[in-house]
Amino acid sequence: MSVAPPPTIALGNRFASELAELALPWQADAAPDPQVLVLNEPLATELGLDPGWLRSDEGRRLLVGNLVPEGATPVAQAYAGHQFGWYAPRLGDGRALLLGELADADGRLRDLHLKGSGRTPFSRGADGLAAVGPMLREYVVSEAMHALGIPTTRSLAVVATGRQVRRETLLPGAVLARVAGSHLRVGTFQYARATDDVDLLRRLADHAIARHHPGAAAAERPYLALFEAVVAVQASLVARWMLVGFVHGVMNTDNTTISGETIDYGPCAFLEAFDPATVYSSIDESGRYAYGNQPLVAEWNLARLAEALLPLIDDDPETAVALAVESLGAFRRRYGAAWSAGMRAKLGLPEGLDDAVASALGDEWLALLRRDHVDHTSSFRALGAAARGDVDLARNLFLDLAGFDAWLERWRALGPDPDAMDRVNPAYIPRNHLVEEALAAATDGDLGPLERLLDAVTDPFGERPGLERYAAPAPQDFGAYRTFCGT
Ligand code: AMP
Ligand code: MG
Repeated sequence: MSVAPPPTIALGNRFASELAELALPWQADAAPDPQVLVLNEPLATELGLDPGWLRSDEGRRLLVGNLVPEGATPVAQAYAGHQFGWYAPRLGDGRALLLGELADADGRLRDLHLKGSGRTPFSRGADGLAAVGPMLREYVVSEAMHALGIPTTRSLAVVATGRQVRRETLLPGAVLARVAGSHLRVGTFQYARATDDVDLLRRLADHAIARHHPGAAAAERPYLALFEAVVAVQASLVARWMLVGFVHGVMNTDNTTISGETIDYGPCAFLEAFDPATVYSSIDESGRYAYGNQPLVAEWNLARLAEALLPLIDDDPETAVALAVESLGAFRRRYGAAWSAGMRAKLGLPEGLDDAVASALGDEWLALLRRDHVDHTSSFRALGAAARGDVDLARNLFLDLAGFDAWLERWRALGPDPDAMDRVNPAYIPRNHLVEEALAAATDGDLGPLERLLDAVTDPFGERPGLERYAAPAPQDFGAYRTFCGT
């Protein structure tokens, strides 16, 4: 086989050059034996990267940060953040590096970023590494989210490093190469604000406006408009999470993006039996980031962003606060509207339908699910079948048959469209037991289950014969699910 000449990879360093105070030039650890476990070929192509080359020796070295293209400046990014409500002034990339920005097929800048690439000055005593399992977990869940149409960072590749990582046991190490609109977080603004350098804060805000919310530049108050744009994208994002039953698990301000993309898949998981109190993360002892709290937490995180932006909003602190409070007020309205519209679509109801009717029907459906511990995802597929006339599939999910029948009658009277429902209600999500099964096999060297799971969840809406087990809830003996941080 002939080896293609190394392509020129134009990795920009816009973040590193515009915001040098937030960017520490750094190198990835050497990986002794990089092996590609999974490569996202369509995404590679979208970014102008040749998948064949990425699998070559040089390509693999790029994917673990050991080959730095000419002109690129890999950096560890600085950020602060509220973690479980407590402010940490200096978090930053403790095991990650921004390699640089690539222009995608549409000319948009996308960050190419590595996770698990070794210690940095932000590591705070931790090892800077990542194990194969958690990196594959981020790969599967983020790609599933993308396929569900939910804004998210993307996963380009997981490459085993050939080095072991010490956790409770020794585990194979890996680097995740991920791609994002940017890695700007609420915590990035908190960090810049805490430096008391208003010029840095302004440059950061200008950078964010240019990359994500260019419309804000023309507003009378561009920085207030930036804040409002972030409120809008976060309200819409969290509504999408709620509609699909996603529990992020660590909604710290450093895991809340300015772009409105989902970021940092740690102890996240999807609901099965519907219950707003659901918590999966082993470290979330108080249930701060429970499923049902997510909209409130997002609003709280946005208040922290507003505080960081105050000096840019108005010279008079009282005016700045009043303006920010008013803008934050839009969160609930926007969240409510996004959720109602999404629920209306999930129930297959016509667009013109009054929001209040759709919301009430949705809330009552969820109350039925909650009372009888019904699986959230399959309940909506079963309702699709009911809209086609096959009611038993849905009816058999419930104990409270009278409640179900009464609800169904009201809903059917509105003329739900089953085909429209099947386009928005996934058959396949990365169910917790299937994710665990795939990661355990991959950690033992068998990538088959992971590939089959990825095949199901990256094409989630069209039911395919042979994939029945990917549509079914966990078997009873799977038990209560817990996910672990410190991954
Ligand atoms: P996360 O929970 O992934 O959002 O990370 C929170 C913070 O902890 C970030 O500053 C990470 O860089 C840091 N961090 C997490 N795991 C490690 C690790 N193994 N080594 C160094 N820093 C880490
Ligand atoms: Mg994080």
